[in-house]
Amino acid sequence: MAAISPTPIPRADLSERLRSHGIAPTHQRIEIANALFSRCEHQSADQIMATVNLHHSETSKATVYNTLRLFLEKGLVREVIVDPSKVFYDPNTAPHHHFYNMVSGELTDIPADSLQVFGLPTLPVGMMTDSIDVIVRIRPQF
Ligand SMILES: [Zn+2]
Repeated sequence: MAAISPTPIPRADLSERLRSHGIAPTHQRIEIANALFSRCEHQSADQIMATVNLHHSETSKATVYNTLRLFLEKGLVREVIVDPSKVFYDPNTAPHHHFYNMVSGELTDIPADSLQVFGLPTLPVGMMTDSIDVIVRIRPQF
């Protein structure tokens, strides 16, 4: 399932990882980064908060959301918006696509080179393609 995701990052290396993205490594930020990078799975903010609060029940929802926003702005994680009520945080920032299982709610990676997009319309004048993210929504046949 996480075949192309990056390998987990040990807690001891997280401070350096945060610093390398211009993020001051506070205790809470390291806990939140650890929830993301120790498993290297797609998680919602609520799942991340639940993981952090297994050990640190004082971490508020606002702190988790603000920290995830900071991680996003600094390019430490990427956001996958399946729909406005289903937002996942992805520790794999390399280009790739996703399957979204509409029944189980699970998001899994599709390697970037296993999917090609044809027939893009002409871009507006002065614009270039920055990235294309595809979410293939799947469900059991029966
Ligand atoms: Zn992913």
